Order: sequence, then C-alpha cells, then structure tokens
Amino acid sequence: MSLTVIGTLAFDTVETPFDRRDEALGGSATYFAAAASGFGEVGMVGVVGTDFPDENLALLRDLGVDCGGVEVADGKTFRWGGRYEADWNTRHTTFTDLNVFEQFDPKIPTGYVGSPFVFLANAEPRLQMRALEQFDTPKLVVADTMNLWIDIARDDLQELLRRVDGVVLNDEEARMLSGEKHLLAAARKVLDLGPRFVVLKKGEHGAFLIGEDVHFSLPAYPVESVIDPTGAGDSFAGGFMGYLASVSNIQPHTLRRAMLYGTVTASFCVEGFSVDELRKRRRPDVESRFNELLSFITL
Ligand code: AMP
Repeated sequence: MSLTVIGTLAFDTVETPFDRRDEALGGSATYFAAAASGFGEVGMVGVVGTDFPDENLALLRDLGVDCGGVEVADGKTFRWGGRYEADWNTRHTTFTDLNVFEQFDPKIPTGYVGSPFVFLANAEPRLQMRALEQFDTPKLVVADTMNLWIDIARDDLQELLRRVDGVVLNDEEARMLSGEKHLLAAARKVLDLGPRFVVLKKGEHGAFLIGEDVHFSLPAYPVESVIDPTGAGDSFAGGFMGYLASVSNIQPHTLRRAMLYGTVTASFCVEGFSVDELRKRRRPDVESRFNELLSFITL
C-alpha cells in the first residue's frame, strides 16, 4: 500500500445557511481517502459500528479505496454534527458521539505496514502514536490535530510532533499550539517542535506551506457555489498526500505542486454534501482545475 490513512468513518449531520443533511457519510478518513483515490492506491484504517451500511464501504471501494483496515465493532458508528454561520467560516460543533471510536485500537494490516506515505487524521495523539508505531519506516508521515488535543493532551501531541514529518493545522490551532499571534511566527514555533514542514489551512483564504527549505502561499480555488465546507481540510490533505504518493517524491518543488492538488480536491469537496462531488470528479477533472488554478497564480 503506497498511502495509508488512519481516521474516522462517520455519520455527519450538517446544517448550512441554506440546507441540511442528516447522517451523511463523513469522517476524516472518508474525506481523505475519497480525495486521494484519484491519484492511486489508498488504504483506510478505522472502525465502524454494525449500523454502517455495506453500501458506504462499497462506495469507497468503487473509488479504488482499500477498506482492508476498517473493522466492524459491536455498537454504533462515530457521529458528528456541525452548523455553519452565514459567513461559512464559523462552524459550531453541535455534537460528537464517539461511539465505537472511543474504544478503537488501530491495527495496521500486514499489507499496509510498509506504506511509505502515512496520514494520521485528527484523533487523540496517543491513538495516532499507536498507529504510527506499527509502520516499518515510512518516507513521509503527516498528522492532523484539533484544539481539544492541544488543550487536554499537549504533552502527547508534542511527543507525536517529534515523530512526524509534517503537520496540517488551521490558523486557530497554530496560534493555540505556539502561543504566537502572528501566523508566520506561529508556524516557525511549530517547526521547532519537530516537523519538517507545516501546512497552515486558512479556509477560503487558502493555505500556506512553511518548512526549512520551502515557503509557499496559495489562495483557495474560487468556488462559485459552496454547498458544505465539511471535510475540506481532510480533502486537502488527501489531494496533497495522494499526489506526493503518486510521484513518490517529497522535494520542495513537489510539495508546492501538492499544495495545488490539495487546493483542488478541497474545492471539489465543498461543492457538495458528504463526498458527493469528490466521487464525481476524477483525475481528468482534477488536472483541468489544477491547470486553471495554476493560470490564476502565474503572471
Ligand atoms: P473537517 O471539516 O476537515 O474538520 O472534517 C470534518 C470531518 O471530521 C467530519 O466528517 C467529522 O465526521 C470528522 N470529525 C469531527 N470531529 C472529529 C473528531 N473529534 N475526531 C475525528 N473526526 C472528527
């Protein structure tokens, strides 16, 4: 397996200023894998309950995602609810029911342990670490996190950050983790904690990549009609890492291109609920929007 993601498979209930969707297929691993699947093989590690319909796994398999690391546990699937304000940028989490995810102890299948590219989606840092320890010697490990873990599991998170190559954070998380108000200073402080690069996601304002030998800033693709921003961050990470895994290269120039691919897959994600649009847009659509985005940023 060239790329593996460890994260949630979920039922999401989302309210936007214009519409709502109840119990739609979601989860960090779902969005990541759907976005990465256009680039090559991707394996998923996660857990679902007995209420998770086979059609959902079939949908992911149809995209080429390997679900060999998804276990079915007795109980209910992880559920999450979110509500967006009219500005689309403010999101309130209405509920988080961990359900079977609470007892989840990730087991990396034998066929995945040699995976050169690994994405540790948002989860308790100790769970992310237990997953990471089972891999042989990945070429690139990237982790995501959230405010809650920065707040209640900072030591574990810092230990994890010493072991990963990259971290994806939104601006608020970067400020919280570093204690710095200015984003560039915040990113530099995060680099001091261990990772070789930080991807700062700034929602509709784009994304910023900073590392020892790379600085790159990119606007978001200007989507005409946002339907649901849920999963944009994980879809960004899926496009970013899916591309890197497909070329098996992590040079600064390739990381910059990967930022464009991440921006493109995130833009598809927000054009629909759940993975509706990510499913429809395959590699030729990705390439076409990549070229369009490139034309926007070139003189
Ligand atoms: P994003 O919009 O990129 O932050 O991702 C939202 C997705 O993450 C949703 O599909 C949720 O099911 C999932 N999610 C929300 N909260 C958590 C959590 N605490 N741990 C893991 N996954 C979560």
